[in-house]
Formats: sequence, structure tokens, C-alpha cells
Amino acid sequence: AGIPAASVAPTFKVNSPNVTYTDAEIRSKYTYRTTSVDTDASGNFVATPKETPYEFKVERKVPKMGMMLVGWGGNNGTTVTAGILANRRNLSWETKEGPRQSNYYGSVVMGSTLKLGADAKTSKEINIPFHNILPMVHPNDITIGGWDISKMNLANAMDRAQVLEPTLKAQVKKEMVDMVPLPSVYYPDFIAANQEDRADNVLEGSKACMAHVEQIQTDIRQFKEKNGLDKVIVMWTANTERYADLVPGVNDTADNLLKAIEQGHEEVSPSTIFAVACILEGTPFINGSPQNTFVPGAIELAEKHNAFIGGDDFKSGQTKMKSALVDFLINAGIKLTSIASYNHLGNNDGKNLSSQKQFRSKEISKSNVVDDMVEANTVLYKKGEHPDHCVVIKYMPAVADNKRALDEYYAEIFMGGHQTISLFNICEDSLLASPLIIDLVILAEMMTRIQWKSAEGDFKHFHSVLSVLSYMLKAPLTPPGTPVVNSLAKQRAALTNIFRACVGLEPESDMTLEHKLF
Ligand code: NAD
Repeated sequence: AGIPAASVAPTFKVNSPNVTYTDAEIRSKYTYRTTSVDTDASGNFVATPKETPYEFKVERKVPKMGMMLVGWGGNNGTTVTAGILANRRNLSWETKEGPRQSNYYGSVVMGSTLKLGADAKTSKEINIPFHNILPMVHPNDITIGGWDISKMNLANAMDRAQVLEPTLKAQVKKEMVDMVPLPSVYYPDFIAANQEDRADNVLEGSKACMAHVEQIQTDIRQFKEKNGLDKVIVMWTANTERYADLVPGVNDTADNLLKAIEQGHEEVSPSTIFAVACILEGTPFINGSPQNTFVPGAIELAEKHNAFIGGDDFKSGQTKMKSALVDFLINAGIKLTSIASYNHLGNNDGKNLSSQKQFRSKEISKSNVVDDMVEANTVLYKKGEHPDHCVVIKYMPAVADNKRALDEYYAEIFMGGHQTISLFNICEDSLLASPLIIDLVILAEMMTRIQWKSAEGDFKHFHSVLSVLSYMLKAPLTPPGTPVVNSLAKQRAALTNIFRACVGLEPESDMTLEHKLF
């Protein structure tokens, strides 16, 4: 049972004059093939195939990595921690349905495969674990730490979360009792008032200040030193905050944002304080919640410091289905006319989201996820035309972490007919989000070891805004002025094909011409 550890699967090497391996690096010369489109005098498109040579360089040494979670004592934080500990010790536990074994199901990196090619003799497809495409950190080797405004130890916090089986919890409890979150930044105005009673582990001061930024930097440095780590990735999996107002002179530029923090401006959120601290520390920071942590000033600051950032909002359940299903419907030529999405959940996330301002952050992040797919189909939709789209979230304590998501997709089909698709999705929210946290930190770390260049330029890292993480995120942050891609299939293709390019392999193609010649 479970997924065989990726490290025991056969590895591979690319046999090509364009790819070289040294102990330290993999280098690949890669031709990027695209199509450039012009419009001629009579308004017709002229498509010209274009080739751009690039060179990629991947550092092979897998670092000793730590992950620091903001909101470590929450449902996601405790679930991902227990999950990694259980996998590390290869634990199994009894349930009423029989024994269960630790696994990494739901993680693209650990649970999915990609096509390497076709067998030279039989032409049969050869697939490899995604984890093997590049030298990536194994989740079992991640050191875990973090902050929470609640000082409950992780063992008790895991009980509070009501996610995992008691027989599993009993086996990881001893290790988790000693895990206590660091005190965090708490500005009550940003999260729901109903969270106040758990805030017993907070740094002094209830509005932005440089002392908070510096404390977070110190915490990261100390965690790194204490555990002998080469790298740390920080992830926001704390409560959803309200949106910060975008105020000219306050959060519009990097300098203004730093000044606003120094002056204690009230529109700087705790998540932005964490982002700024990580950027200044050169630590990648990923936002798993929907709020606008990355105000323009924070993005500019990341660019200035060549620091990696990614976000926003884990794409775990309803939205993941949506970005797959809508892609399918619209690409099948079916005219989707409305999406009605209802959720009810009973965990602390749901409690926080029962407050209007925090719900609004979630509503925004859940609402824009079909835009690119609609806009791309100029046959079905006129310019500016959109399906109706409504998102409702209700707090229902009894269902705890077992979130319910009900969706109705209503579409127009051939000759004025209608198709109605109803979905009812039930599962533990934190068991969906935990593997995404693992993927996000592993992929973000991997991106820190890739550099590339055009024929003329020098080697550089990817842009500070890691849009390659989009598959795991509901409202993908992209470099300023660049398009957002929400389609799940396109997001996966971008991720796999960029990693393939790093080892000189062509994009995954499903043409299978070798089987089609008569
Ligand atoms: P949770 O409420 O159980 O955990 C959040 C934790 O953050 C709590 O322990 C809380 O004490 C802590 N916290 C709040 N403010 C903090 C601060 N300023 N600093 C440090 N800690 C702070 O929620 P969860 O279910 O673990 O979800 C976490 C976040 O992930 C939420 O914002 C949620 O919307 C988002 N998210 C979750 C999923 C999912 O499938 N579980 C999907 C998408 C997004």
C-alpha cells in the first residue's frame, strides 16, 4: 500500500549532445518553439513559427531544507506536520476499515508521474515519478517549524483540528508535544473578531513596525542555525485576512511600504509583514490564503531583492474541480452559462470566514478562476461576455473539517438545449491542503536552484513571482503585466514542460505519431 518512495524508482539520464551532467550541475541547451502572430492589411492573421534558444542550469545538490508555517497550530499546519512525521517513520494505523499506511496522495510531486518517452523496443510509454524529473527535496527530509498566535503545542492542536484518526495521532503525539509555535504578529483588525480567544502567543504591538519584521528575520535565522539547514521556505497557512486597502504613498512602492511599516501604518497586514521579512532575508515566501498580502510595494520589494514569492490561496477542492471542469466544458465547445458554488464547513477557517470582510477575500479569489478560459473562446462568448458566477460560504460547526462543496454548472448545448451538472464534494479540507503545502515548498525550493539565459544574456533565476506554482493556487500571482492562467491542464503542462526543458526534453506531446502511420 502507499506510494513507493520516489528514490527507489529507477532514475534516468538524458542522452543528448545538448545536455551535460557534472557533479554540481545539469546543463541543457533548449530550443523554445512558439508561434508569433501578426495581422495583415486585410485583417487576417499571419502565424510565424519562432525558435528561441535558451540554456538552463540546475544545481544538483539537494539542500537540507526547512519549512516554517505561519499558522502552524491550525488545521493545515498540524495535519501536514503529522503527515510528514508519519511518512518519515513509515507508520501504519488501524481504522474501522482496516489498517492504513502513510502516503503522499494528493501531492503532484510525490503522487503523480510524467511521461519520459516510449520504450525503444516496444514503443510502450515509460512514465517516471514526477519527483524524479529533477533532483528535488524529499518531504520526509523537511524540518518543520513555524509561528502561531495560539501557543497550544502541536499535539493538542492536532486534537483541536479533528482531522486525523486517533490511532495515528497516538503514534505522533510524543514528537508533536514538544513542537510549540513561535509567537506571531497579530493585528486584530485583519482577521475575524471571533479568533481573539486563541490569540495568546503574540508579539507586543498591534500595528506594523520594523521590530516585527526583524523578529521574524531573527526567527528564520535561528531556526536555520539550530537545525543546520541550508534553506528555509516560509508559507502562510494562517487565517484569511481582510484585504488591505491600496493606499497611494503607503503600499504602492517598495520604499513606501517600508516607510509605512516604520511609521506603523494601519493598512499593513501581518501577512505582508511576514512577506517583507522573508524578502529581506532572501527566504522564499508563499501565501496559501486569499488576501492581498502581495500589495504592489511587496512585489516591487521582492523584485529588488531577487527574492521568490508565490500565491495566492491553496487550490484544493471546489476550485480545483472548477478549473478542470470549466476547461473541459469550454474546450468541448459547450457554452457554460452559470456556476453556482455553495460551501459549508465547520472548522476554524469556516469560523473566520463567517465574518464578512474575510469572506470577501475568499469570494474574490474564488470568483476569477474561469476568466482566461472564457476569454480564450471567441466562438462561444462575445467580448466581455461571462457566465454568471456566485460563491457562497457558510459556517456549520457540526461538519468540522469535512467541508461540503456543492456546485451547479449550467450550460447551453446544441440547438438551444441545456445541460446541468451537479457536483457534491465532501472531504477533509486539511487532507487536501496538506499535500499542496508539500508541493509548494518543494517546488519553490527547486526553483531556487534553476537558472537560465537567452543566447546573449547571463544566467539568471526565474522572475521573483513564481507563477509556475499556479497549479496549487486559486488566484495565481504572476509577474506584473503578465497573463494569469487558471486552466488546470495548462498549469500542469507549464510546470512539467519547464522541468523537462531543464533536462533538455521536449514538451510532453500526446501526438503518438509512432502509432499512427498506416
Ligand atoms: P485554521 O484556522 O485551522 O488555522 C489557521 C491558524 O492560523 C490558526 O491556528 C490561527 O491561530 C493562526 N493564525 C491566525 N493569525 C495568525 C497570525 N497572524 N500569525 C500566526 N498564526 C496566525 O485554518 P486552516 O484550515 O488550517 O486554513 C489555513 C488557511 O488556509 C486559511 O486562510 C484558509 O482559508 C486557507 N486555505 C485552506 C484550504 C484548505 O483546503 N484547507 C484551501 C485554501 C485556502
